[in-house]
Amino acid sequence: METKQLYQKSMSYLKTLCEEIPERCVGSEGNRRATSFFERELSSLGWQTEISELDVIDWEDGGATLRVADQSFNVLVSPYSLGCSVQAPLINASCLEEIEQQEITGKNLLLSGEIAKEQLMPKNFVFYNPDEHRRIIALLEQTRPAAIISATGRNAALAGGVYPFPLIEDGDFDIPSVYMTEEEGKKLLSCIGKLVMLQSRSTRIPAKAYNVVARKGKNLDERIVITAHIDAKKGTPGAIDNATGVIALLLLAELLKDYDGDRLLEIVAFNGEDYYAVPGQMDYIRKNQEYFRNIVLNINIDGAGYKEGKSAFSFFDVPEAMRAKANDMLAKFDGITEGIQWPQGDHSIFIQYGCPAIAVSSQWFVEHIESQEITHTPKDNTDIVDCRKVIEIAEALNWLIGK
Ligand SMILES: [Zn+2]
Repeated sequence: METKQLYQKSMSYLKTLCEEIPERCVGSEGNRRATSFFERELSSLGWQTEISELDVIDWEDGGATLRVADQSFNVLVSPYSLGCSVQAPLINASCLEEIEQQEITGKNLLLSGEIAKEQLMPKNFVFYNPDEHRRIIALLEQTRPAAIISATGRNAALAGGVYPFPLIEDGDFDIPSVYMTEEEGKKLLSCIGKLVMLQSRSTRIPAKAYNVVARKGKNLDERIVITAHIDAKKGTPGAIDNATGVIALLLLAELLKDYDGDRLLEIVAFNGEDYYAVPGQMDYIRKNQEYFRNIVLNINIDGAGYKEGKSAFSFFDVPEAMRAKANDMLAKFDGITEGIQWPQGDHSIFIQYGCPAIAVSSQWFVEHIESQEITHTPKDNTDIVDCRKVIEIAEALNWLIGK
């Protein structure tokens, strides 16, 4: 296919995914539109598609207010939290021990300092969940404060570019919570022991979402799985994270539409990388427990197509023969370079199951993972995308696996 045609296609996909569909967070109408669009495109290109229905929750953020006497503080509702209307004394903890040593039950608990340095992993998240996080969550559930107010700093590596970031983002955790900036937290610290009025209008809405898997080829014993998450964080168009990944899959599906090689190719639009319960990923794992050993390679695209710098391919335990071919690919495609290994992303699932993987992203993002302030914010929009880079990725992958 002509590069010009591919360019027009990619631009139209970008418009559909980031502009015509206003949001793609799991549980939203836009998310369902995006997955059905993806399924239709793949199916029209002759891929055999399979859809899994997922039970999820959508979330409505009605805002929150926090008052101590006649002083009010700026707070945000933690995503997927339960709402509340409580009046209770304020207590503070900055580490696990301080939660253990105080009478917490029924009080408004301010978490600040050390304990609020990084987002706590959702309680049912299985891929990465430090003991420290599990202990904090378990202790909170045991001691049951009336509500949790967290004061969080900047932590781009773990929270994207979001400041302040919600310490808790977990629809399975039932203690209402809100969050605020570090500065606001410092002001609130002077109110320890006083009565805090917290009102949070946050609603969980049961909803459906879909995971889409498309296949081509016959050999079930040797599979290459190419993945990109189709969901985006609420409140962002998710252009680089991860409409471009989905566009790369769509273009690749087109380039491979006459594929007749001796491996099974599987293209997966994962639904949930940016959602607390990663439902699409969990569903895929459940269905493929027995088949991971047949996966000879995972290629996961996330964060690709940023306007600055090259595209980065990072390699994880890729066997020699495939690695040699990948090196030829790097030499052939000028805009692609080898990237450092980065663990966050759906490729980590395959690595954990012992499959070789290639993670595809933008070099700029991989190198600025600690400091960038774009991911998960409204700044992640179509203005920062260069579709030519997405096309180059699709062409390179077609070259790598297409025969
Ligand atoms: Zn992502």
